[in-house]
Amino acid sequence: MSTNLETSSADCYPLSVPDYTPLDELRDLQLKRMQAVVTRAWQHVELFRSRMDERGLKPEDIRSLDDVKKLPFTQKSDLRDTYPFGLFASPMKDVVRLHASSGTTGKPIVVAYTQEDVDVWSSVLARALAGCGLRRGDIVQVAYGYGLFTGGLGAHYGAEALGATVVPASGGHADRQLMLMRDFGVTAMCCTPTYFLHLIDRAAELGIDMKKLPLRAGVFGAEPWTQSMREYIQKMSSIEAFDIYGLSEIIGPGVGCECRRHNGLHIFEDHFYPEIVDPETGEPLPDGTEGELVLTTLSKQAMPMIRYRTHDMTSILTGTCPCGRTLRRIDRIGRRSDDMLIIRGVNVFPSQIETALLETEGTLPHYQILLTRVSGLDQMEVQVEVTPQMFNDKIGALQELHQRLQGALDRVLGIRVRVSLVEAHTIERSEGKAKRVIDRRTS
Ligand SMILES: [Zn+2]
Repeated sequence: MSTNLETSSADCYPLSVPDYTPLDELRDLQLKRMQAVVTRAWQHVELFRSRMDERGLKPEDIRSLDDVKKLPFTQKSDLRDTYPFGLFASPMKDVVRLHASSGTTGKPIVVAYTQEDVDVWSSVLARALAGCGLRRGDIVQVAYGYGLFTGGLGAHYGAEALGATVVPASGGHADRQLMLMRDFGVTAMCCTPTYFLHLIDRAAELGIDMKKLPLRAGVFGAEPWTQSMREYIQKMSSIEAFDIYGLSEIIGPGVGCECRRHNGLHIFEDHFYPEIVDPETGEPLPDGTEGELVLTTLSKQAMPMIRYRTHDMTSILTGTCPCGRTLRRIDRIGRRSDDMLIIRGVNVFPSQIETALLETEGTLPHYQILLTRVSGLDQMEVQVEVTPQMFNDKIGALQELHQRLQGALDRVLGIRVRVSLVEAHTIERSEGKAKRVIDRRTS
């Protein structure tokens, strides 16, 4: 891995300065912004005002950051119920951008930005990329989809704001992505970790040695991924892989990002206020305890989000980061509270399966979970691709791998699942977020 990426705060001055704001100043700024955003939402968003009224609350009741607990939550269903523009706090003439995310059912959710919001978005993404050691002179290929999805344009504006050269490749067309990476001397990739895995595979097929490309960093997000997956990616490509976090409802990518210490994701707290709550009761949980991440936008104009329930499970890490940023960190998000599968009464998360697979030699990081119901009983099958060498080996080797994998899954999940070993490239590749679970259960 290259070691010449280390960025001192001076290198990206003045970009990185807000990352190092003394804590008392940062808390003062957060409180002022929280009061302003609550007032703005109360004045302009009917749903929020009615929920405040129900609680007998007025914006002036927010006197400390701790008072955030008094505020009502916002849920994804609120965005659907007010489709398309019901949560806007700005008149349409001030809205310069709309994005939308496809819901699994029915209408998408719509998010809006004023020019000021777009500028904040670009600045937090530029700070995120700077934290990954990127700077002016880097060539950043954006392979997130461009369009209604926030990934592509978000990363694009952020990399431009950083002063880097942007290659707006958008998603798909792996061969062309690899050609651009090689011919343009791309030094950093922004895409989903799943798509980067696909590029690693495709490069091998085309005889391109990823390790010989100038590529030094990958900034991966838009889906949960594990530490084991990071290790696999780094081993196969010799890049440094960073985890970036965000969601359209809050702003898009750039809510938080790892620094080069890779010990959690710094939240850009001057714009986003994080809390952790119990996913069942909504009660706030102390730092260091895992729960659901709740975010409040502190500076959003067009569409303020107050206490938005992300369904992402994490904790706020205690202690400070040796990088010197004063921004608090959240743990990597390995799972979502609504990812949880309940199989014969046992809670199962896809991330547990991913970790077990990647720790078993001979398997590839491509897998799929199939759920069926037989005679009223849930059945789970994990299909796993294995290396071509394994398939060419004697049958005994496959059987031995099957047993090891079965043992590893039994141990982490605590229930018996069916394991099927399949040849490389059997499982459909994704150009964006991976589809890990196929649910064929009919109630
Ligand atoms: Zn740090």
